[in-house]
Amino acid sequence: MQKRFDAVCRISDRKTAPDEPQGAKVLEYFAEDVFDIGKMAEHLPKSVYKKLMETINGMRPLDPSIADDVATAMKEWAVSRGATHYTHWFQPLTGGTAEKHDAFLEFANGKAIFEFSGKTLTVGEPDASSFPSGGLRSTFEARGYTAWDPTSPAFIKRHENGGTLCIPTIFCSYTGEVLDKKTPLLRSTQVLKKAVVRLMKCFGYKEEPVKVTLGVEQEYFLIDKKFYLQRPDLLQTGRTVYGAPPAKHQQLEDHYFGSIPPRILAFMTEVEKELWRLGIPAKTRHNEVAPAQFELAPIFEDLNLAVDHNMLVMEVLRQTADRHGLVCLLHEKPFAGVNGSGKHNNWGIAYGKRNLLDPGSNPAENAVFLTVLTAVIHALDMHSDLLRTATSGIGNDHRLGANEAPPAIISMFLGEQLEGVIDQLVKGASASKSKTSSLRIGIDALPPLNRDATDRNRTSPFAFTGNKFEFRAPGSSQSCAEANTIINTIVAEALDGLSDKLEKFKKKTFNAELQVLLKSEISAHQRVIFNGDGYTQAWIKEATEKRGLPNLASTPEAIMPLLNEDNQKLFERYGVLNRAELISRYHVFKEDYERRLDIEGRVALEIAKSIIRPVVFKEYLAISNGGKSSQAIETVRLEMEKQMEAMNAYISTLEDALSSGEGIRHAIESLRKNVDALEQLIDDSIWPLPKYREMLFIY
Ligand code: ADP
Ligand code: MG
Repeated sequence: MQKRFDAVCRISDRKTAPDEPQGAKVLEYFAEDVFDIGKMAEHLPKSVYKKLMETINGMRPLDPSIADDVATAMKEWAVSRGATHYTHWFQPLTGGTAEKHDAFLEFANGKAIFEFSGKTLTVGEPDASSFPSGGLRSTFEARGYTAWDPTSPAFIKRHENGGTLCIPTIFCSYTGEVLDKKTPLLRSTQVLKKAVVRLMKCFGYKEEPVKVTLGVEQEYFLIDKKFYLQRPDLLQTGRTVYGAPPAKHQQLEDHYFGSIPPRILAFMTEVEKELWRLGIPAKTRHNEVAPAQFELAPIFEDLNLAVDHNMLVMEVLRQTADRHGLVCLLHEKPFAGVNGSGKHNNWGIAYGKRNLLDPGSNPAENAVFLTVLTAVIHALDMHSDLLRTATSGIGNDHRLGANEAPPAIISMFLGEQLEGVIDQLVKGASASKSKTSSLRIGIDALPPLNRDATDRNRTSPFAFTGNKFEFRAPGSSQSCAEANTIINTIVAEALDGLSDKLEKFKKKTFNAELQVLLKSEISAHQRVIFNGDGYTQAWIKEATEKRGLPNLASTPEAIMPLLNEDNQKLFERYGVLNRAELISRYHVFKEDYERRLDIEGRVALEIAKSIIRPVVFKEYLAISNGGKSSQAIETVRLEMEKQMEAMNAYISTLEDALSSGEGIRHAIESLRKNVDALEQLIDDSIWPLPKYREMLFIY
């Protein structure tokens, strides 16, 4: 197969066009394509700016009388930067983003003008009929509407010949049902903020603004486009359904944090330039564990903004890769046998200037920290199933529990020191004779936690990392909205549960009563804390058999919690999603999983039948009819014959699985083993698909 070798030669001859070093120029163009607070102040009348800021800071809903002024200023700014179109940019349940562009163009007295009204800024009416709704709405009432989310600033998305003003929006059906990922996220953040204020009041703090924060570490693969285009499986499913393991993959651990190859660095530099223009604070870049795998991490931001920004990060990665002759694979498991890609979701809460997940340095701060920590422990133990739901999806199923990413069992890692503190709390209060050795909440100070000691366990799905929680189960291609909607809601519920009690405590005995409360809470939910190696079989056994933690290994099981009555009540009680909306998500996830699985099966079948089998037959015929035979040829011929027969059988099995809808995943896996064995048997020069050793190492 000449194409494969052609690609190899052309890649090795490739030269990148050098770009100018950026240096301090970055500071000039950072956020230049964002209509941020600074630009609002500059372009809006003072009174309008003031009112808008009140909305952005969550103090009041948008005053409709200022919408026209805001829209005009936004349009003028965008047009001056080359934009001709605008779009409401939203996040439907497909998991991606959606946009429909309209030009600013209108006619006034027969003359073309640019126009953008307050109404067009604040509400849009896209045809919603083709977005998944999980049965929430039938096509005859397909209208949906999008509404401006002023807490995430508008921005300009550039393309080669222009730009589009993008307005972040929520997306609902005409009758008000939620059809997107942003609405519940925004609602859950409000719910959490309220719960935090209530808790802090119990401790005697005055009200301060609460900020929920998020930093998303994004992993991805890069391969050369010339290989990609020769792999129908990558093109259609995002992962390789075939590919024998190369002799060298990641066993030498020589890629992680290694020096970044020049071509990749050129790509990263351009990605950062694009992101910085969009005000996305890209900070860290490095090689990841698997060959051809990399990571990008921004500085944390307000949760809603960080989720929007991560959606843009994925888009910029993909598009920039294309300009560099590369393809960015965001699938959770593009290559079998090497690590998959995740998305570490670093979540925190700030109260005014103070990080509530920072233990602080005095006993009063420690008491708040331990209370919030207890709430998170409670929340995770009660609802770990929902966090698994939030990370379900066909791609992530390959990753969770595959000894490279956290297991599908959602437990919490606290680190030795903090676990020691928790232990003292649980044991100490009952053994009150030995007052010196037990921690007295609100009176004793915690020992300073050694930050480094908290971040070493990479096998834990939900780890306390010094001053934030890092949820490591989300998949690289997933939106973080789901996971954080759940974290916010379940933590709010737990905080409210504590506040219910704290509000009744007497001032005089507050600390002593708090001590008893936290002790009983932690004892009740301690089973979710696990500091050991999450990859071992022993843990799975202990977690499921002794501790009774759920182990939802694959998507069909992982989405069941959405049908659970208690979960529905929880989301309904907090007004985050009602019962019908939650059930609709179950249907959307289920359908998505089944459709993707079906596609994978069909792609695997097509490749096996029309690409692999003909080559194998040709080779077989060549050695069978090649004239003189020998013992050696005969051995190979027999082996090939065996594999070919197996192949035909596996093809039939997969065909049956696809028509019945049962056993598709297993059938794909079996056929894969067979095809991979053939890959190692057939003449390399005629093998039709780029091999792992090429895709992962030549770029
Ligand atoms: P690593 O997990 O690789 O050790 P870091 O400790 O630098 O990396 O943090 C990872 C991410 O966590 C970054 O995006 C960082 O900005 C973010 N982060 C740090 N503090 C907070 C916080 N209080 N809330 C949310 N995210 C945070
Ligand atoms: Mg991390």
